[in-house]
Amino acid sequence: MTNILEVKNLKTYFPIRGGLMRRVVNYVRAVDDVSFNLRENETLGLVGESGCGKSTVGRTILHLIPPTSGEVIFENKNLEDFSEEELRKNRIHMQMIFQNPLASLNPRLTVQEILTGAAVFHKLVDKKDAKDLAGRLMEYVGLNRQQLQRFPHEFSGGQSQRICIASALSLNPKLLICDEAVSALDVSVQAQILNLFKDLQAKFKMSYLFISHDMGVIRYISDRVAVMYLGKIVEIASRDRFFNNSKHPYSQALLEAIPAAHPKYKKKHKTIEGDVPSPTKVYAGCSFAERCPLAEEQCKHNVPQLRDTGDNHFVSCHLVK
Ligand code: SF4
Repeated sequence: MTNILEVKNLKTYFPIRGGLMRRVVNYVRAVDDVSFNLRENETLGLVGESGCGKSTVGRTILHLIPPTSGEVIFENKNLEDFSEEELRKNRIHMQMIFQNPLASLNPRLTVQEILTGAAVFHKLVDKKDAKDLAGRLMEYVGLNRQQLQRFPHEFSGGQSQRICIASALSLNPKLLICDEAVSALDVSVQAQILNLFKDLQAKFKMSYLFISHDMGVIRYISDRVAVMYLGKIVEIASRDRFFNNSKHPYSQALLEAIPAAHPKYKKKHKTIEGDVPSPTKVYAGCSFAERCPLAEEQCKHNVPQLRDTGDNHFVSCHLVK
């Protein structure tokens, strides 16, 4: 399968200023040398604890936050080579769905205006055909075209997220970056929206980068899974390999944290304790060493590299062969 997106050595650092002169005294290393690819019509689940940098990865790919260094290659074109104007034109094929749908929708516009504003602006549809486009978009996401003249506050959370998805679809995206797109919804509504994402992917052949802290969501939606810890990817594998045979101690701990289906279930791996350390700290070795139950002396001095351990199962850990 062809890659639609390649991310190479991406870094997003935020400067910390201090002193009278407001000089840069340190950096928050939110994304620290992240590389991965996303294939056409594929869903890559990006998972990790809150604060690990996964949302910043999504925003940096879209250049909503400028990268500090690294490359984002979309459809074989390096976004760093684009002017602002070219970037804006190309970005219409990369859309983002956010966690809070109501905050993403302009409360003063009708749903029809929300669904067609960007497509008319980018000349993807004539004004006279806009209403028909809006009606079709509503039907694609399981809503009724009779509701086009309503305002966002007249819809439930799940319906509002459907409108956000329809709005993204109006620009014929090839890539959707979904940032905790179902986290704010009730569990029953979550399942409906996840099924909608799957149906739309089958219909429109889109690729998804699906960012979530919820392993259940990641397991349901993903073809491959990438795990992030403190700005770095520590494991990437196919969904089945990951859930049946995760290799990185951090991934194993995340999986152990999923509530067991039966009280007699025995844990296979040691759990981790403490919070994610500060992303301002520079580590001489593995950034997980302070919390890792398997850490050895070498872990404190050598940075593990993400490497293929077989069958495209990438892990960054000294102990994994
Ligand atoms: Fe743990 Fe060492 Fe592996 Fe890091 S390299 S995850 S500290 S065993």
